[in-house]
Amino acid sequence: MRRPAVTRFAPSPTGRLHVGNARTALLNWMLARQTGGSFVLRLDDTDAERSGEAFAAAIRDDLAWLGLAWEREERQSRRAACHQDARARLAAAGRLYPCYETPAELAARRRRRRAEGLPPTYDRAALALDRSARAALEAEGRRPHWRFRLDDGAVAFADLVRGRVEIPAGHLSDPVLVREDGRATYMLASVADDLDMGITHVVRGEDHVVNTAVQIALLRALGGEMPAYAHHPLTVAADGGALSKRRAAPPARGARRGEPCPADVAALRRAGIAPLALVSWLAKVGTSEATVPLYDLAEAVAGFAFENVSRNPPRYDGAELARLNARWLRSAPFAAVAAALPGLDEAFWPLVRGNVERADEALQWWRICREPLAPPAMPQPGPPLPPEDAAFAARAAGLLPAEPWDRSTWRAWTQAVGEATGRRGRALFMPLRRALTGRESGPEMAGLLPWIGSPRARARLEGPAGAPPSLREILLDAI
Ligand code: GLU
Repeated sequence: MRRPAVTRFAPSPTGRLHVGNARTALLNWMLARQTGGSFVLRLDDTDAERSGEAFAAAIRDDLAWLGLAWEREERQSRRAACHQDARARLAAAGRLYPCYETPAELAARRRRRRAEGLPPTYDRAALALDRSARAALEAEGRRPHWRFRLDDGAVAFADLVRGRVEIPAGHLSDPVLVREDGRATYMLASVADDLDMGITHVVRGEDHVVNTAVQIALLRALGGEMPAYAHHPLTVAADGGALSKRRAAPPARGARRGEPCPADVAALRRAGIAPLALVSWLAKVGTSEATVPLYDLAEAVAGFAFENVSRNPPRYDGAELARLNARWLRSAPFAAVAAALPGLDEAFWPLVRGNVERADEALQWWRICREPLAPPAMPQPGPPLPPEDAAFAARAAGLLPAEPWDRSTWRAWTQAVGEATGRRGRALFMPLRRALTGRESGPEMAGLLPWIGSPRARARLEGPAGAPPSLREILLDAI
């Protein structure tokens, strides 16, 4: 058994989670579960202007909806004492130095260095400031921010996805660790928190590879044990562009009925994607393995290995996810969908799961069978039957057998109707389906008929001959 992993998912609450963020969360969660360790939700909310309580709440909701429970939640904004302690230790070790450049001055310097063909890293000009130069800058009203002096030389580490990574010397700027107002930056806060929380594995997007080199240098200076690192490629939109917390993927080719293909988790949830269908996709996308519908998170955990994570960026295609969702639904046990289907009988689910694109459409079929076939329960009942079909349906009503009904009732009844009327095939079945469900297509009638039951079936088939069907049914339902 491997050592229990302590992992963390560390989103900044500055937007909604998209599928790429969700993948990072899932990878961390699976590793923690697989090793009997723990999973920490760390909200990186040190950027007070951009962070919002609503986003923090939405992140929690999205994770809970996916079934990714966390053992511990932390907010960086409430951990200033831990960050200041790390700052004091680095200062005592002589690794912090004050700098006075404004953002505009730094930008100008970066441009100049680029123009000279130099890497746009910080030139350490502030290291040369003596006491009187600093006093003069402070007399101008400037207040220092503090940088960490990196060791010279390359930083190398073993990455669970990328193998050996080496960031050459000269590619890194001395990082700013403390802002002018005294608050820790993400860089210091992240390392201090990872150490303090005993994080054993840092699993995140490859946009953090360079940060990792800096964070390793900080960890060393703090005398901490280095965690293992895994940087996965960032998920891209179907058009190859980046996913962002604010950008939804454009509809992909083949998307049904021009549906939008949202990339954020909350929108997918609203679009009727089942959480385990999304997990099925997230668990295998960007790996060497095929996607299979998973009906239990434990299956995702059991099948997870970093060795299978590819170095190519996974593509998010909303239409493909919608197809996986339909495939997932076709074999889904009731327990996997019950939460989305309040009031639906368990035995009804297998009859309709092959005919729905989202789990909650099963409720519509449930209502078609159990409630009056009229607005508002049925917003779009089909057009009325042509007169000869209406007369045929009324005649068929007279041939309905007595209850109890089961799956064989439809066959026996339609056979009798066929014999009595001489109708066959579509001319026989379609008017009956339309009269009974208000629709031309749907799940097998043999399965639906017993759920409609004799009084409703009779009323629907007799239709306009008596009172308008909706009224008749409403009255029937009331008795
Ligand atoms: N808050 C950073 C992000 O959202 C955190 C990264 C990390 O250290 O994992 O990218």
